[in-house]
Amino acid sequence: MSELTQLYDEIRRCQRCILGKGRTKAVPGDGPENARIMFIGEAPGYHEDQQGLPFVGAAGKFLDELLAGVGMRRNEVYICNVIKCRPPGNRDPLPDEIEACQAYLDRQIALIRPKVVITLGRFSMARYFPGQSISRVHGQAKRLGDVLYFPMFHPAAALHQPKYRAMIEEDFAKLPGLLAEIDRTKKAGDAPPEPPALKIEQLSLF
Ligand code: URA
Repeated sequence: MSELTQLYDEIRRCQRCILGKGRTKAVPGDGPENARIMFIGEAPGYHEDQQGLPFVGAAGKFLDELLAGVGMRRNEVYICNVIKCRPPGNRDPLPDEIEACQAYLDRQIALIRPKVVITLGRFSMARYFPGQSISRVHGQAKRLGDVLYFPMFHPAAALHQPKYRAMIEEDFAKLPGLLAEIDRTKKAGDAPPEPPALKIEQLSLF
């Protein structure tokens, strides 16, 4: 059994927060262990809770379309969430729930070792872009160590408000370029710049 599979088992048995009591299935994550790209969403919804898999509902279908738009398929990327169990009524995750799940996400990142981490929505953005507003920093990559963190709006935002659709599509279109940059850096044997390589101005929330 791989370490990742062991981690999934632990998550499926987890009772660290109240969400463990109400779930149908925990949703640890899905995708190849050697994926170069990791997507981090917010929390499982109804369909994810039923199936135990991330992004299998309407937002997931849109994510598949976005991936297809840049010539990628879901089975090439790793997908998970900030919290692994569905909050009642799909409410926002609470700070203690995010904290209880944080170690699981950290272990996933350490095991998968993605080159690009794409945060979907403000909850996954908050960890890597603290104090930032998603409407200001989306689509701007930031390097921390040898990983590029790339914040995007949540695909569900585009389903609820069409104005976000074009913005998400535009941000997605930058993905092949980011991967090419990573490959170039690797081939050239450059040492990764110290974080943050791509400077993002300090921005207020409003
Ligand atoms: N929204 C998320 O953030 N994650 C899912 O897995 C599904 C919808």
